[in-house]
Amino acid sequence: MSKDRLSTYRGKRDTGASGEPAGHRRRGHREAIFVVQRHDASSLHFDFRLEVDGVLASWAVPKGPSLDPRDKRLAVQVEDHPLDYADFEGRIGEGYGEGTVIVWDTGTFDNVTERKGEPVDLADAIDAGHVKVALHGEKLTGAFALTHTRMGGDEKNWMLVKVDDDGADRRRKPTSTQNESVLSGRTNEDL
Ligand code: MN
Repeated sequence: MSKDRLSTYRGKRDTGASGEPAGHRRRGHREAIFVVQRHDASSLHFDFRLEVDGVLASWAVPKGPSLDPRDKRLAVQVEDHPLDYADFEGRIGEGYGEGTVIVWDTGTFDNVTERKGEPVDLADAIDAGHVKVALHGEKLTGAFALTHTRMGGDEKNWMLVKVDDDGADRRRKPTSTQNESVLSGRTNEDL
């Protein structure tokens, strides 16, 4: 991709004032990472981000990811974020995204998207609206499917669903019982 994938990110915020990373696109030289940030903004949500082509493709998930394969969670695609956003925790001041952010879960992931039995590059999978990733986090493990549903006619609307595998759990509800950061142990309220 030749266009600056972070231009929307930069246009929406004054990173000097907000304390968020300014973002310098860089190449990954290791396994791809995912991060789920708990963002207590005008409304509480979980930001689900996947490293792709040196940035973090991002979705805001109002109810957060579920480990129960029966749950379909709305995931609203938002602007790509810089890779160094992945370990950002703090308080965003007045303006876009005002509120507190913690790293609720993070780890590496494998892109396991297939089409007709063949592996699909992650950027292509996002473009096509069908993504499957196997997460290796602390709270989230196993495969999750992201599908571009355009529900309600909104181009930004996707759905996040747990694939029924060893990481699935119909009882454990980490989004309500494990509110602390996996990096610092802090909660949003601590910030
Ligand atoms: Mn957010």
